[in-house]
Amino acid sequence: MGYIEPAPIKDEGNPFEAMMSRFHIASQILGLDDELYNVLKSPAKQVIVSLPITMDDGSIRVFDGYRVIHSNILGPSKGGIRFDPGVSIDEVKALAAWMTWKCAVVDIPYGGAKGGVQCNPREMSSGEMERLMRAYTLAMTEIFGPDRDIPAPDMGTGPREMAWLMDEFSRSRGMTINSVVTGKPLVLGGSLGRTEATGRGVMVSALAAMEKLKINPYRATCAVQGFGNVGSFAALLMAERGVKIVAISDISGAYYNENGIAIEKAIDYRNGNNGSLEGFSGAELIEGNELLELEVDVLIPAAMEDVITSRNAESIKARLIVEGANGPTSAKADTIINNKGIMVAPDILANAGGVTVSYFEWVQNRLGYKWTGERVNRRSDRIMKDAFDHVYSTSQEYDISMRIAAYVVAIDKVAKTYKYRGGF
Ligand code: GLU
Repeated sequence: MGYIEPAPIKDEGNPFEAMMSRFHIASQILGLDDELYNVLKSPAKQVIVSLPITMDDGSIRVFDGYRVIHSNILGPSKGGIRFDPGVSIDEVKALAAWMTWKCAVVDIPYGGAKGGVQCNPREMSSGEMERLMRAYTLAMTEIFGPDRDIPAPDMGTGPREMAWLMDEFSRSRGMTINSVVTGKPLVLGGSLGRTEATGRGVMVSALAAMEKLKINPYRATCAVQGFGNVGSFAALLMAERGVKIVAISDISGAYYNENGIAIEKAIDYRNGNNGSLEGFSGAELIEGNELLELEVDVLIPAAMEDVITSRNAESIKARLIVEGANGPTSAKADTIINNKGIMVAPDILANAGGVTVSYFEWVQNRLGYKWTGERVNRRSDRIMKDAFDHVYSTSQEYDISMRIAAYVVAIDKVAKTYKYRGGF
């Protein structure tokens, strides 16, 4: 490709710039031509809607809702719906592109999309959440579809919201269509293993990386940032394989115990405490940023974007970072982390277990058949391990970081698909 100047990173916290900067480097390595570069950097479709909702006090509030389809060249687009006060079009655009790369890395037949509504689920009643999810679904009824665009949970949404989405979409078509969405409750056609899937994939990636680094799980320590669906299952499954989890955190604070935290107890405590670790007594309270800088073997950021930046990357002491969250490391921090010789199992690889089991859920819905949990886990573990090995060998072949190698694997697949399909 003719040399395209990388856009300088103006705003380190902007996730779309963070995605583009890695995309740029990988495109140069692959020698991607300019035309394809321009096609791949532009989302295929961006939908913005205003959603007026009656709140419990009788007032009407208008929420901004988004759905961005980055690419559907590999198949129907796939990606979660985020309900969070920080949702913006740039964030959704970045997350949609990351879904394209993620599905390509694990080699499942989907493109990438993401949705979001700017709202604060912590301050909303169940009735308000339901009205908002149904309004969002109705606004997107021509966008979603089992062969078009398939949503799933993300930050601030879960099986309950997916059930409302499935119901509202089915009403609009006059029949039950459960394959329009994944991450549903089991009785509505959800898959066994889907709830734990992202955390499980993080664990599989972490163990594969530890093997390369010759870190013995039974002698290893680990800190996990974020104790939501991803972080808590990652911590639990790592602990089950002998790793000592010395720190966990959520919005109530960070908790440290050098002898290891009993993760099952922490999960039980959180479940009985309105979803929060506040007051958890199995560890001492430390500063949130301290967790990232602990002397541990493995660090798992599983909370949100941009927590490892040029400001704190130099202080990170872990030998391995396994990204449970999407975009937890800024592009500027990549260089610092690489120079320190820290291995990173990047987001688009390490957290792909969720969308992999989403794919299995969709396959089961379309077959009208239910797999056992054992089959789901066995197949998703194999996909995660194969993807890890592919990214690792690519990083060796080109002498590049695991992150850029994951982009190279993904972009190569999408670019080849475009070449065959053509049609511009
Ligand atoms: N929201 C999850 C992710 O970022 C899952 C997406 C899906 O299952 O479609 O990977």
